[in-house]
Amino acid sequence: MSILILGGTAEADILADLLRGHGIEFTYSLAGVTPNPKARVYPLHIGGFGGVIGLARYLTQNTVNMLVDATHPFASEMTKNALAASIQANIPMLRFERPEWDEPENANWAHAESLDQAAKILPAGARVFLSVGAQSMAEFAHRSDVDFVSRSIKPPSSPFGKTIVAKPPFDVAGEVHLFSKYRITHLVSKNAGGDQTSAKLVAAKQLGIKVIMVERPTLPVAEIARDITTAMAWIERRL
Ligand code: NAP
Repeated sequence: MSILILGGTAEADILADLLRGHGIEFTYSLAGVTPNPKARVYPLHIGGFGGVIGLARYLTQNTVNMLVDATHPFASEMTKNALAASIQANIPMLRFERPEWDEPENANWAHAESLDQAAKILPAGARVFLSVGAQSMAEFAHRSDVDFVSRSIKPPSSPFGKTIVAKPPFDVAGEVHLFSKYRITHLVSKNAGGDQTSAKLVAAKQLGIKVIMVERPTLPVAEIARDITTAMAWIERRL
């Protein structure tokens, strides 16, 4: 039995640790985009597979018989490729999809269908905390009438405004301090979900900061687990 986990998220790491604890063998795959990834004590595949064809070939050549896509909810290219490759290789695939963040009562959220729409919504003169990841920041660069403070795990390739490089998790006190320091009026975030980066939403509500929430991309229909227990049960049923 051979399992491939497409990772790059906190939940993929938790699942990997659980599998290891149960003595279940697997390979964990990372895109290789994050500098200094944390040390892992199980077999790794680093870097892309070469699209659907490359991934299907990898699955077949390595006799993988279970694929778990636990990539970030916005890693839509990989997610689409994973489903198509699992069909080509004729193996079962599970997508781990952490629940979205819901708008708390009395919070001040606007919803954007895309990064482009989020950039358009921002009013001139806003002081914006940009929390969309280094690869998605470029969509906002043309808004020279807005002051940006951005935070990402890796440095943006074409930085603008004030840039902060930091790894989650973040806590509410730290986020309140940061937003107050830069007199932030708007927070732009992808609806990533999860606990690691949700403190910014609590801080925004406390400070009356408007949140522009970028909705998730539409993904193809697949078998989905929304928590680790369900994902583990899906794997164990197929061992
Ligand atoms: P993407 O646009 O969906 O994927 C681009 C390409 O990167 C894929 O076609 C694939 O290359 C390669 N790739 C992506 N995830 C991979 C994985 N786990 N293992 C091996 N190759 C992978 O992905 P992305 O949005 O750039 O995200 C890249 C990684 O960062 C993912 O692991 C994701 O979980 C993580 N991440 C993304 C975000 C985000 O906001 N998008 C946030 C936090 C973490 P090939 O076609 O060559 O196979």
